[in-house]
Amino acid sequence: MASARIDLDGNPIKPLTICMIGAGGFIGSHLCEKLLAETPHTLLAVDVYNDKIKHLLEPSGSSSSSPWADRIQFHRLNIKNDSRLEGLIKMADLTVNLAAICTPADYNTRPLDTIYSNFIDALPVVKYCSENGKRLIHFSTCEVYGKTIGCFLPKDSPLRQDPDYFVLKEDASPCIFGPIEKQRWSYACAKQLIERLIYAEGSENGLEFTIVRPFNWIGPRMDFIPGIDGPSEGVPRVLACFSNNLLRHEPLKLVDGGESQRTFVYIKDAIEAVLLMIENPARANGHIFNVGNPNNEVTVRQLAEMMTQVYAKVSGETPLDSPTIDVSSKEFYGEGYDDSDKRIPDMTIINRQLGWNPKTSLWDLLESTLTYQHRTYAEAIKKSTSKPLAS
Ligand code: NAD
Repeated sequence: MASARIDLDGNPIKPLTICMIGAGGFIGSHLCEKLLAETPHTLLAVDVYNDKIKHLLEPSGSSSSSPWADRIQFHRLNIKNDSRLEGLIKMADLTVNLAAICTPADYNTRPLDTIYSNFIDALPVVKYCSENGKRLIHFSTCEVYGKTIGCFLPKDSPLRQDPDYFVLKEDASPCIFGPIEKQRWSYACAKQLIERLIYAEGSENGLEFTIVRPFNWIGPRMDFIPGIDGPSEGVPRVLACFSNNLLRHEPLKLVDGGESQRTFVYIKDAIEAVLLMIENPARANGHIFNVGNPNNEVTVRQLAEMMTQVYAKVSGETPLDSPTIDVSSKEFYGEGYDDSDKRIPDMTIINRQLGWNPKTSLWDLLESTLTYQHRTYAEAIKKSTSKPLAS
């Protein structure tokens, strides 16, 4: 990519070396693709897995190497215990930290792993960036907001309709978690503490940082389909859970009636926001950014209904007569589960600093994602469910 890139203030962007930790995950794979295809930046991609970026590391179907072969290096390492981490951070201009345990099914069933992964394991990353004067973009979560103020109002209170009681603002909203025995909040609490530590490193030691709070980014390559490219008993995030049910012609399981409200943003829109942060440090440093799509709000029940309709369209298959089934959170997630009622991101800060807005409607993003899911998994599911011949 030879042509010079220009930042939002008209200045040329110099090619960067980026240490991307968690590059082999859902968000990392899309960010790697974007950076390699559209920018001159070089990637030190760190993860314990690389299945989702294999196509970038070993392009298939051609004997010649890809145009970006010399701009991506994969380093298979676990940041928990690998002394190579500091060297990689030192080699880079910027570190993007995506590594985390971040599936709700783990928060209450593996709370220690969740806290270690989201807080303790991120500590050396922050420390090495701070000590070596390197910029850090750290991935937090919209879960740090916890519950809305509005959910504590009486059910019939008109204030529940007032955005002041539910829209989540980076610099104003409180973080409201449930009691300690509701271990679901272990993730949000660990993420909040690492945000506070990063913020303090910024104010006391001059760390240049940006914190990203994703609001349900979804799209192709999110998580896994149980029994196909992940454990049969595994419980991925909602998009993959529902996709798995649709692919297998099973009813979609709605936890506690599917009443929680969420906003969903297309991964490709969200990655545009991250690219703006990477290439506009003067506008992004010192900020916490909500990244979501406030226009794509639905209840989880509505999401299930829409996914059922979209899947019927892309697969040509007739939906079940009863496409959903209710399950209790205790049955589905186990003891210690709890939930946020509603999550609408305020977009003022990201609009002002980076001029970013999401574009893709929920229907369109589900159509492209479920087309991918169908194309990628339908055959494999058919094979796995057809009975083996008796020998
Ligand atoms: P993901 O699970 O697909 O990716 C995380 C990657 O980090 C995985 O590839 C994993 O192997 C790697 N990793 C974890 N621990 C590691 C370690 N010790 N050493 C090396 N690699 C390690 O998740 P994602 O959806 O891509 O999320 C990335 C980040 O964004 C996470 O911090 C998550 O909390 C945050 N986030 C994402 C969403 C979303 O909507 N996808 C929402 C809120 C927050």
